[in-house]
Amino acid sequence: MRVLVTGGAGFIGSHLVERLLKEGHEVICIDNFDDFYDPRLKRSNLQASLRREQFRLCEGDFRDAELLDQLFRDTQPELVVHLGARAGVRPSIEDPLLYYDINVNGSLSLLQAMRSHGVERALIASSSSVYGNNEKVPFAETDPVDHPISPYAATKKAVELLSHTWHHLWGLKIAQLRFFTVYGPRQRPEMAIHKFTRLIDQDLPIPFYGDGSSRRDYTYIDDIIDGIICVMQKDFSFDIVNLGESETNSLATLVDLIGQALGKKPELEMLPLQPGDVTTTFADISHARQQYGYNPTTPLADGIRKFTAWYLENTN
Ligand code: NAD
Repeated sequence: MRVLVTGGAGFIGSHLVERLLKEGHEVICIDNFDDFYDPRLKRSNLQASLRREQFRLCEGDFRDAELLDQLFRDTQPELVVHLGARAGVRPSIEDPLLYYDINVNGSLSLLQAMRSHGVERALIASSSSVYGNNEKVPFAETDPVDHPISPYAATKKAVELLSHTWHHLWGLKIAQLRFFTVYGPRQRPEMAIHKFTRLIDQDLPIPFYGDGSSRRDYTYIDDIIDGIICVMQKDFSFDIVNLGESETNSLATLVDLIGQALGKKPELEMLPLQPGDVTTTFADISHARQQYGYNPTTPLADGIRKFTAWYLENTN
């Protein structure tokens, strides 16, 4: 199959590109190597894929309708996996217009290009952040998600709504994938697991928000990629799918596990909870299991050992 992956140079995207190439697909990647974090990391994420004949890179911005038009005409993708976005909850509070533009307008240009070029199927990255501070856990796709608490979360919810409209009006087949805190090799450097690992390794204090009781459903990258592949292989018309590990761990446990894996005692800088941060995420993945055969298998302790091993190998 010919698959267009947006944001294919990023953390999740580059893993997906490698997996698709391994499975014999043709892959086209569009990425503008933005400076949300060091673009050199994104270039190195694609190093191996760039050597593959079945891979083609378009360096550009998916908000550019003309560029997309040309790209769709030249490459005629059969499936779009839209992972490109401005990610991150806290920085979205500082720059909401930019988040809106990249995440909402960018996704709209892509939906329009699909419609004009008769590309029927897309998987689009959404986020557990759409659940806001919902009290009912675990979070199920049928729960109301009308109260996002950060601009980032609101952009993700907006794209879920817009893609439903494009499904309704133009028959696009779309699966919205709600990822729950993804981690593993190449994780974005500003994300907690990567940042804590770097600081603990350098014997520096880590910012520790709240009393350590906030909980996250941390999902190992290989499980997320398996989930994307599972959904891609099945039929859907319009669907919303939680992809998490369905296991929650507290911030305090996370920090202990990273300290143990590095053989160091973490030093904490106690800080208040941050605006925009939710207190808990916890995925109900029964829909993904039943409908798509998703079956995540990496407990946090194992994933942290793999991540820190990658970190030490690639940093020191
Ligand atoms: P990432 O920042 O590593 O990857 C995003 C990529 O998109 C980057 O390479 C960036 O250069 C590219 N990009 C951004 N704007 C672009 C534009 N206008 N045109 C072309 N390319 C552009 O992020 P990630 O962690 O790999 O996240 C991938 C997707 O998953 C995002 O949609 C994110 O919102 C979503 N998500 C991630 C997580 C997580 O824990 N990592 C959790 C929930 C949802």
